[in-house]
Amino acid sequence: MTGELHCDACDKRLPEWSTAWRCDCGGTLSWNPADPAELLPGVTAENQVTLGEIVTPVLERGAVGYKLEYLSPSGSFKDRGARCVASCLKQMDVKAATLDSSGNAGAAMAAYMAAAGIEASVFVPEHASAAKRRQIAAYGARVVPVRGGDRSRVTAAAQAYAQGSGAVYASHLWSPYFIAGMRTLGAELAELGSLDAVIFPTGSGSLALGVAQGLTAHRQGSRERWPRLLGIQVAACAPLVEAFDAGADDLLPATRPQASIAEGILVARPPRAKAVLRAIRESGGELISVGDEQVRDAADTLWRHGIYAEPTSATAEAGRIELLRRDLLGPSDRAIVVLTGSALKTQA
Ligand SMILES: [Zn+2]
Repeated sequence: MTGELHCDACDKRLPEWSTAWRCDCGGTLSWNPADPAELLPGVTAENQVTLGEIVTPVLERGAVGYKLEYLSPSGSFKDRGARCVASCLKQMDVKAATLDSSGNAGAAMAAYMAAAGIEASVFVPEHASAAKRRQIAAYGARVVPVRGGDRSRVTAAAQAYAQGSGAVYASHLWSPYFIAGMRTLGAELAELGSLDAVIFPTGSGSLALGVAQGLTAHRQGSRERWPRLLGIQVAACAPLVEAFDAGADDLLPATRPQASIAEGILVARPPRAKAVLRAIRESGGELISVGDEQVRDAADTLWRHGIYAEPTSATAEAGRIELLRRDLLGPSDRAIVVLTGSALKTQA
């Protein structure tokens, strides 16, 4: 045993290998290593699923480094979590999984489920890009579009299907193994030495949690300074920013999300909101939102410099500019901007 699962709400413990996607009390589950320096669940060698992952490169531009997560096997940072979920499901001999995604997570999961030989059904919002849907289907997964703009309806449909079909519900929003896999990003950032800030698009907050946990695991006993975690949402759907600004430790009552060019981060009720808010506050960080116009401008600027990141990723660059404008980031601060997904997928 290399760890165990525990409920973030009631602290109940579960074995390391479990197909439960949440606690009986409704709380989210997290993977806790037995040794705090351990990065990932102890999947045996024959169950490790791989598609040739790389330590993603950092493109240096002055004080800013762009972490090119879109160079991952399926074209987004979600491969980190998906690889871990697929490996853990294989370890448990799971044959079928179902999940919901706005696109990138669905594509990443479909890719790694294909590599693991696990049958996948992926529920997507109708507005998800055609290219992402095609990519999910190309990996052999069943794509189920769900009507209506609200992401929570897609989640409900996937959960209902899982309950009826016996497939394991393995959504990136809930799976404890997904967040565990995201820890590799924090470990790679820790290798970059002293950083002032990490800036990233924020929907469910899995990236923030992965970075925080990965840094913690990597820096056991070290006194090295932590970078500030700077999460960027779009104004069309910014529940974490609203809670952050209100000084709340959990989400405020629901607001209805609007459509946005940053389709990948429209998560109205992120299940791990409490943990995300805590991680960002503990780092001395910020949560801010930017408008679609700012995102579009940032994407254009990135593209004109040869950096083909999708608009959802450009949210982080738009956020960097906004943080500078508000004096929440210094011009000489050493900052990493995480470019999460490829623009090749956003084409119709
Ligand atoms: Zn619980």
